[in-house]
Amino acid sequence: MADVRNRISEIQRRIGVSAAWGGGGPGWSNPVTAPNTSFARQLGDATAAGASAGATAAAGSTLPPFAAAATTDPSLTLAEALGTTPVYATKPNGLPAVGVNDTMAAAGNGNLPDSLLASIGGEFRLAKPAADAYQRMVNAARRDGVTFGVSDAYRSYADQVDIAGRLGLYGQGGLAAVPGTSNHGWGLSLDLDLDDRAQAWMRDNGWRYGYFEDVAGEPWHWTYRA
Ligand SMILES: [Zn+2]
Repeated sequence: MADVRNRISEIQRRIGVSAAWGGGGPGWSNPVTAPNTSFARQLGDATAAGASAGATAAAGSTLPPFAAAATTDPSLTLAEALGTTPVYATKPNGLPAVGVNDTMAAAGNGNLPDSLLASIGGEFRLAKPAADAYQRMVNAARRDGVTFGVSDAYRSYADQVDIAGRLGLYGQGGLAAVPGTSNHGWGLSLDLDLDDRAQAWMRDNGWRYGYFEDVAGEPWHWTYRA
């Protein structure tokens, strides 16, 4: 239930209706409690079933059509519109630690098994929690009319050796970490292809989804820290 409430709060924030609950207005049969409860149930049902807003509206609800108010992008599915729950509600002070768990540590940097990784599109993969947060971040960005591409994500140890050979090591003036030490090797860093607007969006919002710009001079490099 807390998760649903978080989703509702996030959606309210995004569509600017946070003051509407309990405030009455046309169509609210019980402005104090009923709309909120019903809304939560509607969200849960819609999320689980992938139902359209039209279907929920047709079920006799007195609520305003949710999806129509929630998104200005008609290509966005309801599931995508809802799948924007942030990782952090408030901005952390400083950089949170990189979350390498025991299973990942046992496998080793650049040696993560497929079972710990998930696709984020194309050939790119991240550690599952990072991939999940990334997808929610992409959904939120789309809601704001912002899109961006990925140029790199998880790097196997062999990939890291290859990149170090081509770009040189940081310690020698290059752009690559010593193989086996890159956060790309944990599937927690990704390199984004950002235009100015997307860069600004990421700096404003990336932290909400656990993504931090954590290498000086590399505005494309973002690491999941949660
Ligand atoms: Zn990078």
